[in-house]
Amino acid sequence: MISQTELEAAKSRIVQIVGDRVPLKKRGATWWARCPFHNEHTPSFAVSETKQRWKCFSCGKSGDTLDFVRMFHQTDFRGAAAILGITGDDPSPQAVEQEEARKEAKKRRVELKAEWEQLAAGLRYIGRLINQTEPLERESHWFTAELMLNEGLDELEAELRK
Ligand SMILES: [Zn+2]
Repeated sequence: MISQTELEAAKSRIVQIVGDRVPLKKRGATWWARCPFHNEHTPSFAVSETKQRWKCFSCGKSGDTLDFVRMFHQTDFRGAAAILGITGDDPSPQAVEQEEARKEAKKRRVELKAEWEQLAAGLRYIGRLINQTEPLERESHWFTAELMLNEGLDELEAELRK
């Protein structure tokens, strides 16, 4: 399946894509050219940007951007898409889901890393306090440090289980 997203994008570039192949002149809201599909001296080939359609009022040929490229280059739909550089396929719903899961996991890893760093910074701070205090007070600081570490580990564990 050819990418619908890219197809729609190409269709909306009708003036540029047709204009690259036949000289267009704007009159009002419509672009005009001498029809490339039949011989004529006065332009009756019209391109509407808003409708994303073209029509020759002389020979009656009409279509959208892809039809134009297909007929102009005498190729099929795939050939026309290839000429416009549309080769990609739309990602399947599973692929989209996998990509989202991958992004979510990456985000979580970044968050966890930040939490670990916060925790480590807290412990380093407590470590410095401990070194500066009297031996008798050290016991309570160690106790705080241990509480912090356990709390942090519990939180991280809960995060990981989500
Ligand atoms: Zn024509």
